[in-house]
Amino acid sequence: METRIVIMGPPGSGKGTVARIISKVYCIPHITTGDMLREAVAEGTERGEVARDYMERGALVPDQVVNSIVEERLTGLDLNDGFILDGFPRNLRQAEALDRILREKGTGLTHVLNLVVDDGTIISRLSLRRSCPRCGAVYHLRNNPPEVDEICDECGAKLVQRSDDREEIVRHRLQVYDEETRPLLERSQEAGLVREMRGDLPIDEIPEIVRRVLARS
Ligand code: AMP
Repeated sequence: METRIVIMGPPGSGKGTVARIISKVYCIPHITTGDMLREAVAEGTERGEVARDYMERGALVPDQVVNSIVEERLTGLDLNDGFILDGFPRNLRQAEALDRILREKGTGLTHVLNLVVDDGTIISRLSLRRSCPRCGAVYHLRNNPPEVDEICDECGAKLVQRSDDREEIVRHRLQVYDEETRPLLERSQEAGLVREMRGDLPIDEIPEIVRRVLARS
């Protein structure tokens, strides 16, 4: 089955966790703009310098920066093998850029997977989220804790809390999501691509449910 997926959902809906599972189950690359931007910031590249200030405020990084990062990443890829895009597109201009990039490669998306969770869950989730600065693995101190306190199971690095997971920044990110990103769902709905899934499922149930949801026509 071809799987070229965009995963959507508000910040803290579990996109990263579900996308990593899908990437493993379907053997397709997980392309996440948040991680690519955080890397650029950490490396102090020119794009990173531009992105830093926006990210700290929980605002969207300018489209031309993000679009060029995604275009470069997709260019190196045999898109027939599929991919899962996480955190992109976030607004209409990005959605149009993605359509163009895929069209030029003679292909298109197969699914838009929308994760559904309520705002209360999101706020509590993000305050307990810890992530690995080295490999990007994501944990939840209550629902999905690492085996050893504060240490990444996958690579042994010390886990951190993202600075934009503070409550006031989270509220702003949710507002940006509602205003700019959520409306994209309608567009994908019209194209018949959207599949919905709960974002608060136990980790071990996710692979089976994803298979079922993506197989639905
Ligand atoms: P995320 O890890 O997806 O929650 O993204 C963290 C932050 O990176 C966001 O709050 C934005 O500042 C920035 N970011 C990630 N993806 C995008 C995107 N597609 N467009 C603009 N900014 C983005």
